[in-house]
Amino acid sequence: MKKKNVRAIFPGSFDPITNGHLDVIERGIKLFDELIIAVGRSPVKNQLFTPEERVEMIAELIDQRKMPGVSVESFEGLTVEYAAGKKADVILRGLRSLTDVQYEFQLAMTNRAVAGIETIFIMTSEQYGFTSSTLIREVASLGGDLSNLIPKSIQKRLKQRLKG
Ligand code: ADP
Repeated sequence: MKKKNVRAIFPGSFDPITNGHLDVIERGIKLFDELIIAVGRSPVKNQLFTPEERVEMIAELIDQRKMPGVSVESFEGLTVEYAAGKKADVILRGLRSLTDVQYEFQLAMTNRAVAGIETIFIMTSEQYGFTSSTLIREVASLGGDLSNLIPKSIQKRLKQRLKG
């Protein structure tokens, strides 16, 4: 039987969120009833924005763009445990390249093996195929123009942050 009221989580670092992520979110919500953007609190080094800041920036964009069914929060620990706590049916992830496929394949297999949860992938729109948060941070730190790749509000936050 087809499932109704499908709830998906879209986990990631989102440091910061890019137009590539937003594209996956906007296309993803057409497939699901509910989509929770889940900002990971993993203790990785090289974080530019705190999880709270990332959640705040994403919440602002959800408000601005009026995205019914989409919400954002942060989480700690295992993605599959967070997904179970949220009673999520699927994990949503984005794919940009074959390198992504290799990593995501492993991740999805592991998550299915340990928690029986399915991962659904959305392929990038070609104009964002090379957009990653890491590159955005690097280009921003060198003063490059990122207006096609991230929203204005994120550009502003990056500028402020990198001014020190
Ligand atoms: P993580 O550190 O968990 O990979 P990211 O914030 O880098 O978190 O990415 C979250 C998800 O969004 C991942 O599935 C990633 O492949 C996907 N993603 C990132 N950038 C893009 C993009 N430009 N187009 C499509 N998917 C993307």
